[in-house]
Amino acid sequence: MNPTVLIVDDDPALLEALPEALRLRMGDLDVEISDSAPDALARIAVEDYDAIVTDIKMPGMDGLALLDEIQRVRPETPTLLITGHGEHDLAIQALRRGAYDYIQKPIDRDYFTASLARAIEKRGLARRIEVQRLELERHSHVLEHVGDGVFVVDREGVVQFWNLAAEQITGIRLDDAVGRRAGELLGGWNAISPSIPVAGADRPKRQLARMLPFEIAGRELWLSLCGVEVADATVYSFQDRTDERMVDKLKDDFVATASHELRTPLAAIYGAAKTLRREEVLDEDGVERLMAIITSESERLARVVEDILFASHLDSGRLQFGTAPVDVRALVTDVVESMQMHLASGVTIQVDAPPNGLPSVSVDPLKLRRVLLNLLENAIKYSPEGGPVVLRVTTGETGRLRLQVRDEGLGIPPGEQERIFEKFYRSDPQLARGVGGTGLGLYICRELVHRMGGEIEVESEPGKGSTFTVELPVPAA
Ligand code: ADP
Repeated sequence: MNPTVLIVDDDPALLEALPEALRLRMGDLDVEISDSAPDALARIAVEDYDAIVTDIKMPGMDGLALLDEIQRVRPETPTLLITGHGEHDLAIQALRRGAYDYIQKPIDRDYFTASLARAIEKRGLARRIEVQRLELERHSHVLEHVGDGVFVVDREGVVQFWNLAAEQITGIRLDDAVGRRAGELLGGWNAISPSIPVAGADRPKRQLARMLPFEIAGRELWLSLCGVEVADATVYSFQDRTDERMVDKLKDDFVATASHELRTPLAAIYGAAKTLRREEVLDEDGVERLMAIITSESERLARVVEDILFASHLDSGRLQFGTAPVDVRALVTDVVESMQMHLASGVTIQVDAPPNGLPSVSVDPLKLRRVLLNLLENAIKYSPEGGPVVLRVTTGETGRLRLQVRDEGLGIPPGEQERIFEKFYRSDPQLARGVGGTGLGLYICRELVHRMGGEIEVESEPGKGSTFTVELPVPAA
């Protein structure tokens, strides 16, 4: 589209000559003419001219008054005033009131066209800047509201932009972020940022994000980050991958634990079997001892494998729950008796149940048995000095069964009491004095109890022991 110029003059001769001269000298230009200020104002109201040229002296509303109006309605439009010879003061006034330039009569055509060309260019530039500003505003609005965290770091390492998602993911507010160094906000930034993939003019356009750890307000956050270089800054976008990272870590830990748990009994079985084959060196007791090792280690092996399969079955949602009338006392006695066979000396399991017996309730007996076995096994496992384990059974409110397993063993630090129910979570094996386990026992317990509509919780003090309490809704059978 050609630029459009409006020429305002009450002199018909000039109105004819000027457009002609401009067309000749400036080529692609649309020129409109107007013979009075009021007529010009009417046109300006509907058309956004690239430049306006007006005579300063006109009957009625003069050029200066017209200039004031243009400044009001079209402040961006450059206006050139034509002044008479020697009207220097008027020309100065025009400039002071915002005219772009003044052209003295008799008009020097070269000067006039050069000045007008500059005015048109200035207006074009302002228009392009405005378009870019709007574009930027739109982009920043989009960036403000995208789901990914976005922030901009300038060449000095100072944060210049911080969007809503960045606030939500990191917990750092916009006001606290902008103007600060990225290194102050994201712990580890200075060391880690060089390894963030950044696309730029001289680098590949598409970059895969990298998962990197940052310390933010005492928390470790794993962010999947990548960046793009722009003129004088880098725009980074990121997602929070902390949860996935934790799951990955748990899985890695689990593979390590599970392999260890499988290898230990396997090694014992293998060793025992190999010795057995060299019968000549063994007496009867020796054979018996080795057979006992093979039996108990095979059982342990089977338990580990079974736990893994059971947990995955639980997760798949395919596990069925049934109910049957259960004599709680008989079930408890049976579980305790089956455990007592494996107890080392110094450990006892006491059962504490109401003297007038327990009612028969409706529950899934296998699942309940599994929960109890697990809690009792843990109580024994984590009581390395021996000591009593008490299983207390009460029927509190009607329709509720409460089972408590208390030990006087290692206890659990407060910070871990929630976490021990997580899948694969094991406290430091060093602290647990090297006892075996997969970290699945309590996870399975909690899942089973929840699916039976109950609750499980722990109270514990390190060094003093732990009490696990299970409460189940049990309709009378
Ligand atoms: P595992 O015993 O196979 O490690 P669990 O899920 O049964 O897995 O238990 C998770 C963790 O909780 C254990 O590693 C242990 O640190 C802790 N824990 C469970 N029961 C007790 C207990 N009675 N006393 C102390 N710590 C316990």
